[in-house]
Amino acid sequence: MSETFKKFQEYLKKMDYYNHIGSLMYWDMRTQMPKEGFEACSDALTYFSTEQFKLATAPELKEMLTALRTPEEFEALDADWQFIVKRMLRDIEKDERIPQDFYTRMVQIQTESEAAWEEAKNAKDFSIFAPHLAKVIEVTKQRVAYTDPGKEVYDALLDQYEEGMDSETIDRIFEELKSELIPLTRQILAAEQPDEQKLAGFYDKDQQKKVQDYLLKYIGFDFAKGCVGESEHPFTLNFSSKDVRVTNHYYEDAPISSMFSAIHEGGHAIFEQNVNPKYDGTVAGSCGYMGIHESQSRFYENILGRNKNFWKPIYEDVQNLLPELKKAELDDFYREINHVRNSFIRTEADEVTYCFHIILRYEMEKAIFRDQVPVEELPALWNEKMKAYLDLVPADDSEGILQDMHWSDGSFGYFPSYLLGSIYDGLFLEAAEEELGSIDEILAKGEIKKITKWLNEKIHQYGSTRLPKEVLEAVCSREVSAKPLMNYFKKKYTEVYSLR
Ligand code: ZN
Repeated sequence: MSETFKKFQEYLKKMDYYNHIGSLMYWDMRTQMPKEGFEACSDALTYFSTEQFKLATAPELKEMLTALRTPEEFEALDADWQFIVKRMLRDIEKDERIPQDFYTRMVQIQTESEAAWEEAKNAKDFSIFAPHLAKVIEVTKQRVAYTDPGKEVYDALLDQYEEGMDSETIDRIFEELKSELIPLTRQILAAEQPDEQKLAGFYDKDQQKKVQDYLLKYIGFDFAKGCVGESEHPFTLNFSSKDVRVTNHYYEDAPISSMFSAIHEGGHAIFEQNVNPKYDGTVAGSCGYMGIHESQSRFYENILGRNKNFWKPIYEDVQNLLPELKKAELDDFYREINHVRNSFIRTEADEVTYCFHIILRYEMEKAIFRDQVPVEELPALWNEKMKAYLDLVPADDSEGILQDMHWSDGSFGYFPSYLLGSIYDGLFLEAAEEELGSIDEILAKGEIKKITKWLNEKIHQYGSTRLPKEVLEAVCSREVSAKPLMNYFKKKYTEVYSLR
């Protein structure tokens, strides 16, 4: 081991300590901090993240990386460390191109915009947010001009969240999906709908927590390497592969919500818990590709969790934990967890209409960055698309264009990853069945951990070291396509809704 490499590893450790303390404070703020503790903690958090940023962009680090990149040092590294060095050097060179004063201004604009978004959402009034959104769009374009000179803005944004993905590919697969999903959805909505009253009732919060723990264990979440907290919105937080935490939120009149949030976040967490521990504390240690990450949470939530066979071995146990559920037969429950309906809010949508929520946002982002549609015209465009895809017109902007916070902090290009995740799932399902046999049968036998093990081996262990394209290549040796997802939808919903 060379001197430089030793020094580099010490430096990474230090970076990881800061990362650890920052994550811990974030966890505390989101899960249990008393209201009045926030201010002091957020000051402390700002201090530590600034220090962290300084470490990540320090000339000292760049020197080390540059030295490690010289042939004699580089060739002595194994492939994983080569990946880490290349990646960190690339990131630091990108960040360096952003002038300091511009960076400060951008952060300030984003912070103000987040606050304006919240205010506008509460007031149900887009005009409060509009001038801030315009500024955020402007600084986003400017930032891309610095970090990715010469690259088309929207493609650069997509690449940020799902490396290697571009709008040409997304156009192709989203169109592929739309052409069949629109008529299928029409058929589903015209068919007889399940009776949602079958699940109506009061479901005790503490009992829901027991169900959540039961489900997490069942799918393979390791409680020796993770725990569950309660927050306003469910999320997953990763300290290292040995400490991955999830949160949940409970509605006492809607038990399905916390069950499926647990399975979804559990999917993200199982991914992170099974990354090769060798990568802990490095850029390889957590999967940085949002589409691939989302493919794992959605695989558990939708492909497995909304399959009737998933519930066959465990439904009685779940009913015993939630006695109110005893009035619903497995069939009633199954139909309700696959109840398709047009709705306003993305995060509450079923797996079928969810696709339209994302296609709509993707088209809006293209309108903003490609067609330069002015912000004042965006709410009308949103509503027009909502009518076209979901046959609904929002009563106000809070259930329309203001519902998600992503644009307020400049996270443009993020939305497509959710649907890419589902599209990948179609491919992964095909590959899993080829190698393991019928997923229905495995689930019905209560052997879901076989599937978890397969995902661990095929996808999770690699962390960030395989790019999305490489993951697809390795798991299913084919190019991305929406056809397998469409086949899954057709097969499943023809049966659920007795379509012809
Ligand atoms: Zn997710």
